[in-house]
Amino acid sequence: MKPHTANEVLAAQPGSPKQVISAKAERFTESVIREMTRQAQQYGAINLAQGFPNFPAPAEIKRAAQEAIAADVNQYAITWGAKRLRDAIARQAKHWQGLEVDPESDVTVCCGSTETMIASLLAVTNPGDEIIIFEPFYENYGPDAILSGAQPRFVKLRPPSDPAGEWTFDPRELRDAFNRRTKAIILNTPNNPTGKVFAQAELELIRDLCVEFDALAITDEIYEHILYDGSKHISIARLEGMRERSITINSMSKTYSVTGWRVGWAIAPAPLTNSIRKVHDFLTVGAPAPLQEAAVAALGLPESYYVQLADGYKRRRDLLYESLVAAGFSAYRPRGAYYIMTDISAFGFRSDAEFAKYLVKEIGVAAVPGSSFYADPVSGARQIRFAFCKTEDTLKQAAQRLAALKKPQR
Ligand code: GLN
Repeated sequence: MKPHTANEVLAAQPGSPKQVISAKAERFTESVIREMTRQAQQYGAINLAQGFPNFPAPAEIKRAAQEAIAADVNQYAITWGAKRLRDAIARQAKHWQGLEVDPESDVTVCCGSTETMIASLLAVTNPGDEIIIFEPFYENYGPDAILSGAQPRFVKLRPPSDPAGEWTFDPRELRDAFNRRTKAIILNTPNNPTGKVFAQAELELIRDLCVEFDALAITDEIYEHILYDGSKHISIARLEGMRERSITINSMSKTYSVTGWRVGWAIAPAPLTNSIRKVHDFLTVGAPAPLQEAAVAALGLPESYYVQLADGYKRRRDLLYESLVAAGFSAYRPRGAYYIMTDISAFGFRSDAEFAKYLVKEIGVAAVPGSSFYADPVSGARQIRFAFCKTEDTLKQAAQRLAALKKPQR
């Protein structure tokens, strides 16, 4: 039989060290999202898999980064973030969400929201703690839970029966997931991969459970400015009773089209922030200092920037949505973020993985198999996610290629 785990691979190689791979590292695979980017490169496909823009970042912020390096901002910033940046983060949190944030005690700047999330989890979880995660979920949260030693519990988000409808969860199922071991719920709104934007009433329900079971909300709000059709982003920290028990995570990546810069942050009450800062310090010491200076410039962009950002994404969403529907997909129209989740049942492939392979190799478009977003791959076997953070030109080319798909028989 072919060896499966890294420890089995080592065991089969004479002279290799035995049983050196940790049980934690054996429990998850490499990111499928990142793997699809490698496949897109290998097959020369258009990459609608990994969510990063293929258009430039705002000139002002690139200039600010260049100037910071020229001015020799080359050494460590303060571990939990340059003061100017923490001040800007606090100002923006007040401006957009009305949150009172003390930049001296409530903010930790990390290497992207990815590090911020794992640093936050490591700061608050003990073995045996449970973390509630809505499913489908951004694939990092699974390994994040394993690495932090917590047990994930999944609550289903169900697709609407009408593709123009909203993904929903069953309040009873959510209540059943909470118990005295629940340490936190991870909340990603606007949501990747579904495009759901959690409504006030849903957040209130989550708030009530967090308060009742003395749990935290750890949020991933990196798509906060990418909203459509009048939907509004609400930080759960804004709800009465939640400021004390929320870790609000955000980053530069999606709002300013700089996913490779790796600058993110957490806003949390001082005692939580202290712990996050300690973990962050020993994980990475700090986020890139010159790019923190550029982040100050980014957070100072005028409001018109955010309007244009959302407008541009709306055009891209409509373009990709129409092309997917024309090609025969059942596509759920997102209310926020920059992904479209589709149902591929009608195409008659055996699995999402097989379909994604066919798409990248034969059609020339890379997408992410739905199973990447579920704990049990079977749950996502009829879904594929497309990203539309690409130029309209790229999306039009993708549309032409997708049109070559054999139309499903309905
Ligand atoms: N958030 C993006 C996605 O879901 C990319 C994340 C990443 O690869 N770090 O595709």
